Amino acid sequence: MMKVAGQKVTANDAGRRAERIRGPNLAIELGRMCARILGRTPASTLALMSAFVVGSCQVGLAQGDADLEAPGLAPFAAPASSRPTLFQNVRIFDGRSAALSAPSNVLVRGNTIARISVNPITVEASENVRVIAANGRVLMPGLIDAHWHAFMAATPQMLLMTADPNYLHLLAARQAEATLMRGFTTIRDLGGPVFGLKRAIDEGVMIGPRIYPSGAFISQTSGHGDFRFSFEVPRVTGGPLSHSEVEGIAAIADSPDEVRLRAREQLRGGASQIKLMGGGGVASPYNPIESTQYTEPEIRAAVEAAENWGTYVTIHAYTPRAIQQAVAAGVKCIEHGQLIDEPTAKLLADNGIWWSLQPFMDDENASPLVNPVSQKKAQEVFAGTENAYRLAKKYKIKTAFGTDILFDARVAGRQGAILARMVRWYTPAEALKMATADNGELMALSGFINPYPGKLGVVEEGALADLLLVDGNPLENIKLVEDPDKNFLVIMKDGTVYKDTVPK
Ligand SMILES: [Zn+2]
Repeated sequence: MMKVAGQKVTANDAGRRAERIRGPNLAIELGRMCARILGRTPASTLALMSAFVVGSCQVGLAQGDADLEAPGLAPFAAPASSRPTLFQNVRIFDGRSAALSAPSNVLVRGNTIARISVNPITVEASENVRVIAANGRVLMPGLIDAHWHAFMAATPQMLLMTADPNYLHLLAARQAEATLMRGFTTIRDLGGPVFGLKRAIDEGVMIGPRIYPSGAFISQTSGHGDFRFSFEVPRVTGGPLSHSEVEGIAAIADSPDEVRLRAREQLRGGASQIKLMGGGGVASPYNPIESTQYTEPEIRAAVEAAENWGTYVTIHAYTPRAIQQAVAAGVKCIEHGQLIDEPTAKLLADNGIWWSLQPFMDDENASPLVNPVSQKKAQEVFAGTENAYRLAKKYKIKTAFGTDILFDARVAGRQGAILARMVRWYTPAEALKMATADNGELMALSGFINPYPGKLGVVEEGALADLLLVDGNPLENIKLVEDPDKNFLVIMKDGTVYKDTVPK
């Protein structure tokens, strides 16, 4: 996405423009394009713009993608969304309401929902509209996973730590496509090297969901993000980075100054929010689950860096002490929190803090853990899940849905099944609202650096067109989301149809 003079233009739009621009006139054409975007007359600015075309457009491109569009992009451009789509005779779950709408028609133009009407919508024949005769099926917003790791969800931990990173990135790209095909049109990535993957998806080079990237998660030494090998420690100031840091998975930082530096590096790379490790974790070997990580000044340093960029810090924390410290330091979202207590839950509610909670349980949806210490820690977390949801409901805390699947392709395939499991605590409508409208609200917390400005997670006029056509009513039977291959007949993201198996 690029932002020029207050306008936001998606990379796809830029890519499509780039398709039409070829040959020796490229610089001049780009100059015209920049001039148009800036709202000046091409005649008066053409020479100037052509001369500075590279510089200008670099400034225009998104934070972290400060270079030109991928060369040779045109042949790989995503199916053009310039063709409008008309869904006829749908009943709408709008992301908020517990009931379906009356039979309606929905027109998508460009990447947004242009019109919703119970009356027939007429379109010009010349518009070449794709008509989807939905026959009363349910149209709902694309799903959003608020805690995902695009780089690590489906790849075994040992492979992640040892294999050729180029190979690992290709695996992640395949998994990104699978994620979209499960109906998850947006993910908030809470750690891992995904800036390149996000860019390739946004440009239409690869297929996948919208990604709200955090970049590397920031961790103290011996914290939940410290996956260094024993021979990489001790670190000396100014010494070489560890393997996981070079790859962009983790950023080890001790002291407010180092946390500030690492946070700013992620923002430079294109992070839409900052992820900090604020307490003990399950999969990491060097920290007890009870440990509190970082100090208030260290967390505050990241909060200040994020807030200066219009965004926020979200923090991995299970215990009351770790959560309380994070809230005191200005963190806006808590990840996990299964070991919370009643006063700390009230603290979240009183301060309007988001709780990104996962339905971790000891069942077929649990991510695999190889070492017994991690397995023991996982049991403590599983035991807290019931209480956590009870408190989230009791105090009406702003709760996000996320899966946090790690290291296993089979479990990654159960992303929708994990959402369906939420009916243990919520009605299907409440669970689906959390994974659509509520999560969409959380995505918007990244403020003026939001990579996808516009409304996500709702079906309403003007919202971004991320839509699923479901064969059945998920408000009555949420298990439909467990089998997206069969039950999601249409998957649309950003106005583009990626799947259409509606019987013709
Ligand atoms: Zn995670």
